[in-house]
Amino acid sequence: MRMILIGPPGAGKGTQAARLVDKLQIPHISSGDMLRAAVKEGTKLGLEADGYMKAGKLVPDDVVIGMILERIAKPDAAGGFMLDGFPRTIPQAEALEGAMAKAGVTIDRVLLIEVPDELLVERGVGRRNDPLTGKIYHLKFDPPPSQDVAERLVHRKDDTAEAITERLKYYGSWTSPLIPFYDAKGVLRRVDGVGTPDEVTARITTALAS
Ligand code: AMP
Repeated sequence: MRMILIGPPGAGKGTQAARLVDKLQIPHISSGDMLRAAVKEGTKLGLEADGYMKAGKLVPDDVVIGMILERIAKPDAAGGFMLDGFPRTIPQAEALEGAMAKAGVTIDRVLLIEVPDELLVERGVGRRNDPLTGKIYHLKFDPPPSQDVAERLVHRKDDTAEAITERLKYYGSWTSPLIPFYDAKGVLRRVDGVGTPDEVTARITTALAS
């Protein structure tokens, strides 16, 4: 299964992707995670991406497209993958289409996780990431299970109210055109992202079967 998760920042893409890949046995390819790793390692790509990311802006298409096309060409992605955070613009989607056509495969499903804007800022500001396990918590909605875990959690630099507002603007202008793009191909499925992670996973499972 070749899948894409689309949704505004804080919609729950990362949380749901982690659950789905376990079930589907496909690699979870998150452009945001890859970029954060590059920033941490201080690679050339990371140095280029850092300023854009901190400000909640999109990293230039050519940088992200090269990184993702290289990743999906690896052997572990030959039988399928779950893209999370990519594509985020029409040129990125077109580059992906081109690579898929060249490989003689297609995208099977695009899941759109929908959450109203007013909930997204609260979700983002309270979000905390566990660097050890990769799990995502929320201080209020899904608090860490112990003091040990709580102490090692990190707050993403772009999870401030200002950066989230900026990211939402980019989502509206650049990413939302992907919705009609994939709808026209008949692969788009819409999922209500309001509710507990379990409720959303159940809706996704139903949507994937349809
Ligand atoms: P995410 O973890 O998906 O929320 O991504 C975090 C940040 O990484 C975004 O706000 C962008 O700055 C950058 N980023 C991730 N994926 C992309 C992409 N496909 N295109 C451009 N920038 C991206």
